[in-house]
Amino acid sequence: FSSVEITRHLLDRIQQLDSNYNSFITVTGEMALAQAAAADQRLAAGEAPALCGVPIAHKDIFCTSGVRTSCGSRMLDNFVPPYDATVVEKFNSAGSVTLGKTNMDEFAMGSSNESSYYGPVKNPWNTDCVPGGSSGGSAAAVAALLAPGTTATDTGGSIRQPAAMTNTTGLKPTYGRVSRWGMIAFASSLDQAGPIARNAEDCAYLLSAMAGHDDRDSTSLNRPEQDYTLNLNDSITGLKIGVPKEYFGEGLSTDVAARVQDALNEFEKLGAELVDITLPHTDLAVPAYYVIAPAEASANLSRFDGVRYGHRCDDPKDLRDLYMRSRGEGFGDEVQRRILVGTYALSAGYYDAYYNKAQQVRRLIKQDFVQAFEKVDVIMGPTAPSPAFGLGEKKSDPVAMYLEDIFTIATNLAGLPGMSLPCGLVNHMPVGLQIIGNYLEEARMLNIAHRYQ
Ligand code: GLN
Repeated sequence: FSSVEITRHLLDRIQQLDSNYNSFITVTGEMALAQAAAADQRLAAGEAPALCGVPIAHKDIFCTSGVRTSCGSRMLDNFVPPYDATVVEKFNSAGSVTLGKTNMDEFAMGSSNESSYYGPVKNPWNTDCVPGGSSGGSAAAVAALLAPGTTATDTGGSIRQPAAMTNTTGLKPTYGRVSRWGMIAFASSLDQAGPIARNAEDCAYLLSAMAGHDDRDSTSLNRPEQDYTLNLNDSITGLKIGVPKEYFGEGLSTDVAARVQDALNEFEKLGAELVDITLPHTDLAVPAYYVIAPAEASANLSRFDGVRYGHRCDDPKDLRDLYMRSRGEGFGDEVQRRILVGTYALSAGYYDAYYNKAQQVRRLIKQDFVQAFEKVDVIMGPTAPSPAFGLGEKKSDPVAMYLEDIFTIATNLAGLPGMSLPCGLVNHMPVGLQIIGNYLEEARMLNIAHRYQ
């Protein structure tokens, strides 16, 4: 098949099916066909990087030159960036085709995709259920076979949790492995981009295209680019898998625990050894995150002031009215809640009690992992405490929503890579197995996942 044929097929599927899922905010059909035609020429000329002509979609958090980038928010409903994010630029130069921009929770704040200004995404496995979030559109598009792979971002679980809920594979790399330049910032010390695809092998191709040093992102790691597909078939005999007892306690559905245990048994059959470990500060991860992430978000989102770009209210009476109404109208409830919490935690008099304390807890959490990785090669457990829940079920209960990420958030606080891969079904709904690797061990994690798949 030519890239044009495949692209046309996927655009038709999106047109016919996506009204059921709402996984795309913007479909860039004409641009996709032009890119596909150019890719076909490169392929005919025998000049073909791995992803040349492969159609993908980007989470609507990545700036795309000339294409609206909303971040799921009314605030940026009219924002058309004049440049591409580094991630987008890398895919474009590899010859990939962009089908469009995927739906997401507003400013990536959420675990169900219900905070999007463009309406919730529905889980292709059961459209009465959420697909997870915040990268729910990216996960649902892959699950519904509307795109073979997508880009996504993960600040506290937003690649892994939606991957778990849609039976897809998603990887959050080590902090700094993928450039954040041109990716709209939520919590800069936690945000990291990665791929969602049907399996580890496809993730390896996508990650090879995305990762690498970028001078424009000062937190970008200065490591050479890497071909993550090279070691997929390595043996995993003798691999030491740490199983943290804190990941199998209160809050975990017994059915999910059973599927994860099946997967662990499978790894034993593949020659791995299971080792009981402890990550004693696990229960402090969610509280620390919900101080640090809102604090950083309150600072990052101060740029949306109704003056430079984004939503501006009608007929402001004065500057204060302009700020207040533009931000009040442009941001949804969850985003406003985070800005309030973050501003409070950073204010004089509360800074030491909340922000500093949370940073100290963050250090303890990181230390837990350093100690664990002295004994084991990787850590495994559930990705999320339950399979996909019903639309609306947790929408009015922020704390219940925040607990969706109890097993994923610690990884972001420590800067470690984490991935989720399908490990079976509970009542016809998918369950995810999480693999947490040591720093820069993405290739090994993909190898481990590939051997299982
Ligand atoms: N669910 C978490 C939050 O709402 C994580 C989101 C994310 O990883 N972007 O903050």
